Amino acid sequence: MTHTVIPTIMQVPQLDLKRQDQALRGEILDALDRLSGDASFILGESVQQFERDFAAYAEAKHCVAVNSGTSALHLALLAAGVGPGDEVVTTANTFIATAEVITYTGAKPIFVDIDPNTGNIDPAAVERAITPRTRAIIPVHLYGRPADLDPLLALAARNGLALIEDACQAHGARYRGRRVGALGFAGAFSFYPTKNLSAWGEGGALVTNDDRVAALARSLRTHGESRRYLHDRVGYNYRMEAFQGAVLRTKLRHLPEWTARRREIGGVYRKMLQDTAVELPADDPRNECVYHQFAIYVEDRDRVRSELESQGVGTAIYYPVALHRQSAYVGLGYGPGSLPATERACERVLCLPVFPELTDAEVDHVARSLLSVVAR
Ligand SMILES: *Cc1c(COP(=O)(O)O)cnc(C)c1O
Repeated sequence: MTHTVIPTIMQVPQLDLKRQDQALRGEILDALDRLSGDASFILGESVQQFERDFAAYAEAKHCVAVNSGTSALHLALLAAGVGPGDEVVTTANTFIATAEVITYTGAKPIFVDIDPNTGNIDPAAVERAITPRTRAIIPVHLYGRPADLDPLLALAARNGLALIEDACQAHGARYRGRRVGALGFAGAFSFYPTKNLSAWGEGGALVTNDDRVAALARSLRTHGESRRYLHDRVGYNYRMEAFQGAVLRTKLRHLPEWTARRREIGGVYRKMLQDTAVELPADDPRNECVYHQFAIYVEDRDRVRSELESQGVGTAIYYPVALHRQSAYVGLGYGPGSLPATERACERVLCLPVFPELTDAEVDHVARSLLSVVAR
């Protein structure tokens, strides 16, 4: 009797959250078990402990835990006094939340182009966009790669602007040796399930070295309260839930090993893909990228993507449409071609699997499949 052997192609998902969840389930449930019984469901001791641990991790004086990265960004802008009539300069090569928070305050997002080598905001373009109405700059550490902060910090200082880091993809990344997040006025992290550090649901944090900013963010997080039922200002309900504090604190202990693995996988890809038709964003050796995504740029991206799919390799496109070309923001009047480097990145970008639980064989399969596809 003969058997027909059907060779199975290795399947590598772009992201598989179940692997981490299964590995940590016991540890997290133990932490939740220690929580249960004290009936403190919102903020409380577990969130305070997480705030202390995350502040230490981010090398920041203060951490204010909130219910999303979007809320953290919004609070940072409010603490900077940004409001109607103001302008905030940012990138269009990002998730929409970066710009939405500007809109929430009544200010206007001013989109400038990226440095095509890194995908991050171009400091020279920021300088050209500054007007008397500019109040803040929001660089994004896209894919976990630090934006070029020194020239932006100098611009902010010279023009009296708040520099707010969107570090939602960059937990633990270093710029010139220092952790990103609190290098300017304030910074925001997201703990959305797909991020490098994630809650069991939504979560976020604002970090800052400024006592006044931290106090204001704490008040705004809880309805503008100073003391119970005494409201100094109109605030929000942006509180983190107690159980998320316990989940995040447990996971934070694993973040250094996860980050090391992401960087290891990134290094393997860089080595295997160098000097090929695959273009890689520049990694400044003075900085430490934490590879939230491993982005590549290729011509004929959609064909490459579907051929990878048929070889079992999942990929994702972050982001297919830049913010200035989204229907939500067409009203701002940025036409096609107005941010050429950003638009070109959106047409060519493709993100490979880079989550820490990938096996060496999977990483090898991804890179080899990609090389076979682009060579064609
Ligand atoms: C995820 C993300 C946000 C928003 O975070 P949420 O926790 O989903 O609100 C903002 N900016 C960037 C760059 C992000 O990746």
